[in-house]
Amino acid sequence: MSGSRIKSLLSKGLESLLSVVVPDICPICGKTMVGGESFICFECRLSAPYTEQWKRRENIFEQRFWGVVPICRASAFLWFVEGSCWVKMIHDLKYHSLSVFAKNMGRWYAAMLSETDFLDGVDLIVPVPLYWIRRLTRGYNQSEYIAAGISEYTSIPCCFSAVRRVANNPSQTHVKSGDRWDNVEDIFSVIQPEKLRSHHILIVDDVLTTGATIISLATKITEACCGDVKISVATLAASKKQFGVE
Ligand SMILES: [Zn+2]
Repeated sequence: MSGSRIKSLLSKGLESLLSVVVPDICPICGKTMVGGESFICFECRLSAPYTEQWKRRENIFEQRFWGVVPICRASAFLWFVEGSCWVKMIHDLKYHSLSVFAKNMGRWYAAMLSETDFLDGVDLIVPVPLYWIRRLTRGYNQSEYIAAGISEYTSIPCCFSAVRRVANNPSQTHVKSGDRWDNVEDIFSVIQPEKLRSHHILIVDDVLTTGATIISLATKITEACCGDVKISVATLAASKKQFGVE
């Protein structure tokens, strides 16, 4: 038996031993996961608050950008409902460096998107960058890992270097609606437009609230590429309150 085969058997043995000693816990419901379940249990996957909007053209997320910036397709994966376990998970993603979990969420979302024509023509993924101080204090950018998960599943490459966040923006939820746009107008800079030009870009972010951050980034990209670019948007969650869905 070859050395690598022995190594692989040993690692599989160790993995199953570890799953007995330290069982996998579903991060949503807290139950111990059983054989065949990984990352999130079957029950939570079945009852997840899917928006299902990626299956519809001219959906409520796409309507948010109408008349503001040209967006081909837009969707969020899950509804952000105050008090639900999913909100805690998305909050934890932001602040607790859960890079593997964020990547798995991206893969799961990509699998759902790939069952539809949502990603047709998309050839580059651009995560919304964090301002450098925020990235430093958080230790990582959750949107980069969600994007990396989508990229892993679809084989569409990610571009992390073409856009930069040049200023921070306060939380949109605390800004009056008339001020939302002024608040984020110049927070991004496109430093390598040649990497984006002539592409169909998927902008990836964790949560869609007012849409102002995405509008700001999409506008800068469109201007820097002199209009020679297509943009779609995929976020992991969206605020139900912001979209008037109850
Ligand atoms: Zn569960």
